[in-house]
Amino acid sequence: MQIQFQHPPLTVFESALFRTTSTVIETPELILVVDPNCLPREIEFIQRHVQQIRGDRPVFLLFTHSDWDHIIGYRAFDGAQVIAAQAFADNPSPGKSLDDIRRFDDEYYIRRPYPIEYPRVDKVIHSDGQTLEFGDTRLVFYLAPGHTADGLFTVVEPYGIWLAGDYLSNMEFPFVYHSFSEYLHTLSTATDLLQNHAIRLLVPGHGDVTTDKSTMQSRIDESEQYLRRVVRAASNDNAFDEEFFNRFPFPLMLQKYHRENLELARRETGQG
Ligand SMILES: [Zn+2]
Repeated sequence: MQIQFQHPPLTVFESALFRTTSTVIETPELILVVDPNCLPREIEFIQRHVQQIRGDRPVFLLFTHSDWDHIIGYRAFDGAQVIAAQAFADNPSPGKSLDDIRRFDDEYYIRRPYPIEYPRVDKVIHSDGQTLEFGDTRLVFYLAPGHTADGLFTVVEPYGIWLAGDYLSNMEFPFVYHSFSEYLHTLSTATDLLQNHAIRLLVPGHGDVTTDKSTMQSRIDESEQYLRRVVRAASNDNAFDEEFFNRFPFPLMLQKYHRENLELARRETGQG
């Protein structure tokens, strides 16, 4: 397991798969574990880290959204209190993510020492600006639908850490599984968030963290430009060229997601 970034109060672990991040934040009041993933040994590594640092502090498990690769480590942290969005708790098809996990583990003959289950949420986040306070540690939440229906942004104060889930990655353009219009709205939430909090670190679900505010804003702007371009392309069959994909480090697999984005954009704008 690789550690991508470490600076008090947090450690950002990175899986060998999809460059998915798992974040552990240690404050005087609590330990916050975010989307622990993906391979059994990687999850074990995170478990050991948490065991070593926790002392008698409570452990909270935050899920940024319900995609399979983000919830795969749930039962490896028994006893932790789960935080997630209302839409995550009310997911109409939790079996889909579980099927995705089982398919993945079957394909690679992966054995896990814990059961695969959909997370039961203890602290349900239902509105923008909702806050959970534990002494000086404050978790401020913003609903972030668009990629999926149940995305959640979390700002950990007073540290200025922004946990963004599957938004604002430098590895990929937006993958829209849920809604273009809601995704765009979430990007404007992101801009507001950047203005209203002293953000010092952005942690995306895949790829590299950044401490640079202008990089954060340009990730927001590039996501928005991509979405608007897809919506235009959906209505006039305007194709994206190879060059567009080649800007990304793993361009081949991205084309499939781009085609799916185009299909959803057509359906959403009534052209599909
Ligand atoms: Zn995702």
